[in-house]
Amino acid sequence: MSYTNFLAFYHAYLASPKWRDIRSLALTRDCETCQSCNSHECLEVHHIHYKLLAREELDLSCLITLCRYCHEEEHRQQKKLRQLAFEYILKKKEAA
Ligand SMILES: [Zn+2]
Ligand SMILES: [Zn+2]
Repeated sequence: MSYTNFLAFYHAYLASPKWRDIRSLALTRDCETCQSCNSHECLEVHHIHYKLLAREELDLSCLITLCRYCHEEEHRQQKKLRQLAFEYILKKKEAA
């Protein structure tokens, strides 16, 4: 699956009734509380990893409830980590 196909699939999935149900299971499990700052407002469900994408019911621990602010922060960190990993690989290549 190409990245573009993946994104199309992912966005369609996020709009599906199945995701709505799974999302509400994760919200209930986390007592409708942001697991990072304990806020009860603007809650979103974040994928810790995508290995169980569209099969999250098999193990809800791949999901976590975050408020919009912590969710954005989480994605910024992830992006930063990816960037660091990428730069590290580039440097290693240059040094070799
Ligand atoms: Zn939060
Ligand atoms: Zn997320």
